[in-house]
Amino acid sequence: MKILITGGAGFIGTNLCAHILDETDHSVVCIDALTYAADRAAVKEFEKNGHYKFYKADICDADTVQKIFKGEKPDAVMHLAAESHVDRSIAGPEKFINTNIAGTYTLLEAAREYFEREKKSNAGAFRFHHISTDEVYGTLGDEEYFREDTPYDPRSPYSASKAASDHLVRAWAHTYGLPVVITNCSNNYGPHQYPEKLIPVIIKNALAGKKIPIYGEGKNVRDWLYVKDHAKALVRVLENGVNGESYNIGGNAEITNIDLAHMICDLLDQLAPESKHKPHRTLINFVPDRPGHDYRYAMDITKIQKEIGWVPETTLEAGILQTIKWYLTNPAFLNRN
Ligand code: NAD
Repeated sequence: MKILITGGAGFIGTNLCAHILDETDHSVVCIDALTYAADRAAVKEFEKNGHYKFYKADICDADTVQKIFKGEKPDAVMHLAAESHVDRSIAGPEKFINTNIAGTYTLLEAAREYFEREKKSNAGAFRFHHISTDEVYGTLGDEEYFREDTPYDPRSPYSASKAASDHLVRAWAHTYGLPVVITNCSNNYGPHQYPEKLIPVIIKNALAGKKIPIYGEGKNVRDWLYVKDHAKALVRVLENGVNGESYNIGGNAEITNIDLAHMICDLLDQLAPESKHKPHRTLINFVPDRPGHDYRYAMDITKIQKEIGWVPETTLEAGILQTIKWYLTNPAFLNRN
């Protein structure tokens, strides 16, 4: 299958492309605007593979996106391109509205036009897979879990823009018959994540001897999903999911931000014994909470487990260990601006 991946140069996208190229018979056509979050070095490596093709393009550019569909004739789309950082969405929501909502609309229209022209006689020959977040569901108390039928209640400009894009995707399925699947995942971590998100920030600051900022009292709870497990889940859903359905993907790994920071600092003490900043825990610094900070996210992943046969394979401890080792061997990635 030829898969058109948007945002394939980003954190999840590079791990997804690597998984597809290394572990499957599918080929990849990547569209990415190469924003600050993209990993250009990873794209250069992938370009050595005959099953990978890269287009530097903005998903909001309808003409270019349509031309790529016409020229490449993909069997499926995996849509990951997005502005993805909640703090940036609070400081400046406009790009989030443009890329996440208008960009998704532009891509859906190009996919619909292509589907109606070339694939409608065989609807099984095309699928649009939209990659979204658990943050569309809002926030939880201590007990419950997000299920696929949990009502949407987004709280930040980022999560509202992703919720809007999910609704657009469902509307294009109901109204125009576009074959779609949606996945909503919890916080990812692993190699290639731009060092503005919690885990690479902790690693970067600890190694540099800088304060490690933790919001509020660090009591917020997140479920963490190792990105390589996520990449496998995405391909399984693309191949085996039911049109019109959505699937929650989580890591079964809930932890408070402060416990996570302690875990990473303690592992860094062992993995970077030459560091002058041990014990790294002493660098943890509580900062004023993020406005509207959701208290807890947690996923019920029964559906994907039962219907697709996917479960996360990597424990949080094992995944964090792999992640730290990757950043220690890729200091240039960690220290780029
Ligand atoms: P990322 O920010 O690391 O990468 C996003 C990629 O999209 C970048 O390569 C960027 O260049 C590209 N991009 C941005 N705007 C674009 C545009 N207008 N046109 C073309 N390309 C554009 O994000 P990520 O963490 O890899 O997330 C990928 C997807 O998964 C996003 O849709 C995000 O909402 C979703 N998601 C991520 C997480 C997570 O923990 N990282 C959790 C849930 C859902």
